[in-house]
Amino acid sequence: MPLIRLSDVTKIYGAENKHPFTALAGVSLQIEAGEFAAIMGPSGSGKSTLMHILGCLDTPTTGEYHLEGDNVDRLRGDQLAAIRNKKIGFVFQGFNLIPRTNAVENVELPMLYSNTPPEERRRRAAEALRRMGLAGWEGNRPNELSGGQQQRVAIARAIVNDAPLILADEPTGNLDTKTSAEIMELFVRINREEGKTIILVTHEADIAAYSRRIIRVRDGLIVDDERREGR
Ligand code: ADP
Repeated sequence: MPLIRLSDVTKIYGAENKHPFTALAGVSLQIEAGEFAAIMGPSGSGKSTLMHILGCLDTPTTGEYHLEGDNVDRLRGDQLAAIRNKKIGFVFQGFNLIPRTNAVENVELPMLYSNTPPEERRRRAAEALRRMGLAGWEGNRPNELSGGQQQRVAIARAIVNDAPLILADEPTGNLDTKTSAEIMELFVRINREEGKTIILVTHEADIAAYSRRIIRVRDGLIVDDERREGR
């Protein structure tokens, strides 16, 4: 059973309007557990729309999406939220940490929804930060951390619930070259050592080079799907 199976998925914005826009024109895609894939494509090609559907942030207009064998394409908002919390960790270009809230509390956030007792929450969040090289920084707020450190906190938050799937949208877009490489090494480690499936959107070939599969999107369609040696 693949981790992800999209079957002929379309996304049409403004279907009720005079000029609907087809952002995804029929995408079929399978991703196995343990893969590390990059989605590439020019601006406006449908990458974010595809990520939103993969991340259960949005549902397809037509077509099917199975995540770990479960059909998720027709779920309601609250059902999607429950799936996201259990199965998906998100990493964004802008880090998306809660300001005025320290690192360990930011990482605890996904566990607030899963009824984990407070002491265990704190212990697991601190452990995730330690794995991301941030032992000693638990009490720092986002504005007291560098961009690279903030992204490490965000990755700790993405893995703390032990979700099988990590989705990263331009995760190095706000970082310099050296810090980008360090962040990509973390994704490689999470993929290799913890077996997490990683899907990232990037328009940089240097970043996609860390993945072992490059899926190219254009005009709402997959136009190329290449498996390769990762870095
Ligand atoms: P990419 O991430 O590759 O830049 P997107 O998935 O963001 O592409 O967008 C694909 C197309 O769909 C774009 O032309 C965009 O204008 C359009 N689009 C995205 N979201 C919406 C929306 N909520 N309503 C209408 N059109 C949208």
